[in-house]
Amino acid sequence: MSGSVETLEFQAETRQLLRLVIHSIYSNKDIFLRELISNASDALDKLRLESLTDSSLETESADPHIALEVDPEARTLTVRDNGIGMTREDLVELIGTIAKSGTAGLLEKIKESKDAATAENLIGQFGVGFYSAFMVADQVTLLTRRAGTDTGTRWESDGEGTYAIQSEDGLPVGTSVTLHLKPVDSEDGRADYLSESKIRQIVKQYSDFIRWPIRMATERT
Ligand code: ADP
Ligand code: MG
Repeated sequence: MSGSVETLEFQAETRQLLRLVIHSIYSNKDIFLRELISNASDALDKLRLESLTDSSLETESADPHIALEVDPEARTLTVRDNGIGMTREDLVELIGTIAKSGTAGLLEKIKESKDAATAENLIGQFGVGFYSAFMVADQVTLLTRRAGTDTGTRWESDGEGTYAIQSEDGLPVGTSVTLHLKPVDSEDGRADYLSESKIRQIVKQYSDFIRWPIRMATERT
């Protein structure tokens, strides 16, 4: 069962950042996966920490891991974790605005940068967190349920200025981020992110240091 859909606008600064990211000519788009895996890892850290003082979370923190799923038919790539998850309020605050995330300072630097090339470099160097997903996806669906709460939330956006949010029952604790991938464009730096070997290569290159298990499953039809 799901609740009624609410459509919300991204904060002005977020829109600016999204525009930069979506139209970025920065060629190394692979870093989006580093950012999503880093968020998943942080979420697992947070659940581990909370479960130390809250024994009711014990079962939810069993088998902590990150799962990567490719669906060639649907052209989607999903990054899933069974970490802390987010409430609806968290989502609006953390994903809808950038004030709370590490990307706020980056946007300042990007604004100060004199030319597009410098701005592009900043995006590559620091990453733009969750919003990196929009370098490779034209639609992002995030499903999440905060540990210790009953109702989950569905968040959806094409990155163009608004996002849709609604409550959704039956979700597991944790977060899944599903990217509906843009077409492959090697000139634009977009590789085939439906390719299992490509995903494995990026994980090895950028996320080798992650302490939690990263599992990969390919959906076959
Ligand atoms: P940063 O990681 O620098 O804070 P991000 O844009 O990557 O910035 O993420 C913003 C915030 O959204 C995170 O700080 C976190 O609170 C929340 N978030 C993102 N992904 C997840 C996730 N998989 N699980 C739980 N919270 C998440
Ligand atoms: Mg992050």
